[in-house]
Amino acid sequence: MYVYMGHMAYENTKPYEDFFWKKNKIDLVFDHVEKVETGVKSLHLKSGNRIDFDTLIIATGSRSNKFGWPGQDLQGVHCLYSYNDLLLIEGDTKRTNHAVIVGGGLIGIELAEMLLSRNIKVTFLVREADFWNNVLPLEEANLISRHVRSHHVDLRLLHELQAIQADEGGCVKSIVTHSGEVIECQFVGLTVGVSPNIEFLKNSGIEIKKGVLVNEYLQTSVRDIFAIGDCVERTYDLPGRRTIEQVWYTGRMMGEVVAQTICGEMTKYEPGPWFNSAKFFNIEYQTYGNVWPTLNPEEEDFYWEHPSGLKAMHIVWNKSSLQFLGINTFGIRLRHECFDRWLREKRDVTFVMENLREANFDPEFFTRHEDEIVKSMVLKFPFLNLQHPHKLLQK
Ligand SMILES: Cc1cc2nc3c(=O)[nH]c(=O)nc-3n(C[C@H](O)[C@H](O)[C@H](O)COP(=O)(O)OP(=O)(O)OC[C@H]3O[C@@H](n4cnc5c(N)ncnc54)[C@H](O)[C@@H]3O)c2cc1C
Repeated sequence: MYVYMGHMAYENTKPYEDFFWKKNKIDLVFDHVEKVETGVKSLHLKSGNRIDFDTLIIATGSRSNKFGWPGQDLQGVHCLYSYNDLLLIEGDTKRTNHAVIVGGGLIGIELAEMLLSRNIKVTFLVREADFWNNVLPLEEANLISRHVRSHHVDLRLLHELQAIQADEGGCVKSIVTHSGEVIECQFVGLTVGVSPNIEFLKNSGIEIKKGVLVNEYLQTSVRDIFAIGDCVERTYDLPGRRTIEQVWYTGRMMGEVVAQTICGEMTKYEPGPWFNSAKFFNIEYQTYGNVWPTLNPEEEDFYWEHPSGLKAMHIVWNKSSLQFLGINTFGIRLRHECFDRWLREKRDVTFVMENLREANFDPEFFTRHEDEIVKSMVLKFPFLNLQHPHKLLQK
């Protein structure tokens, strides 16, 4: 998105300088694996070439979902995943005045921000009653909806795409919603989630379901073949974690784990407490531990929102043991290492609130809000018996 918006050059998105690969004796091959022959340990490439392997690590990421809508492959309909998608978007938005984005998640909101940066009018169709409500609790979903609308996005909750219609030239001219409303547009962004990119593994003998199935060493069902990143589906449970996790952080951790194993140090994938971060227009979002969209019966929560509607914090703990379970924060930066440690140490919520200042990671001269947050929490939960709330507030 930042390349499209002119904040970065394409070169700045490369993880390493071009000389890195050769220097580190890594052969970069620009080709497409079409088939994996596990019996003879060989890859068939689109170019017709083959590569034999001793160990294979599958890291083929995701592909954007499309759900069979009429018109979904017309000129002017785009997903946002790869650099190639970006180039196609760049080409088509030159002739776009009005765009419709379908699907309210992180990629949809990024695409909305991109298009607005080119003065393109954006209508955003979200099937659910609240924005990203399979992840965000209602308070946060409302905060983000208000923020999106404040950027002049025409956000339509409870709206579904029915079909995309073409002009005589085969380009997008409008969409039709489930209620029959026709919205004229020259661009449609389909941002309705991603799925593991594993089509090419069918019939390879490697077990797949939604993703490539792996055990705790990230080994697939076939010896010497591992999988990491977005394309992985874990066959075992980890508390508070989904079996498919399509975020950058988990991919990196999985890579580190498999590197240990193939270098002779069998290492389990134990990612610890969940964390993630993103940005919704001007609002930075971080989450540590688990703040589920709906509170579990054994959980208690406290939500604080700044009158500006641009900052918020949501804290969840266990009702009986007071063990801290998770935090969402908007517009206030918190240190990952503090929350990771406190979650691993199973600290209680009073400890977390008494030490909230230590976790703040806002830039210098940013207004601090820990006092307000703690004060309003003490008012709502006097029985929490924050041991030294006054001392805390005087720090
Ligand atoms: C717009 C957008 C915004 C995102 N923002 C965030 C964010 O803020 N935070 C976050 O944590 N995550 C974010 N993500 C998710 C994050 O990008 C992914 O989780 C991460 O890139 C997954 O890494 P990966 O290595 O598993 O797969 P990828 O990065 O997708 O890499 C897969 C690679 O495999 C190649 N490949 C695929 N099939 C084949 C084949 N058959 N043969 C050869 N090569 C093949 C692909 O071309 C690609 O180079 C975002 C994703 C998108 C699309």
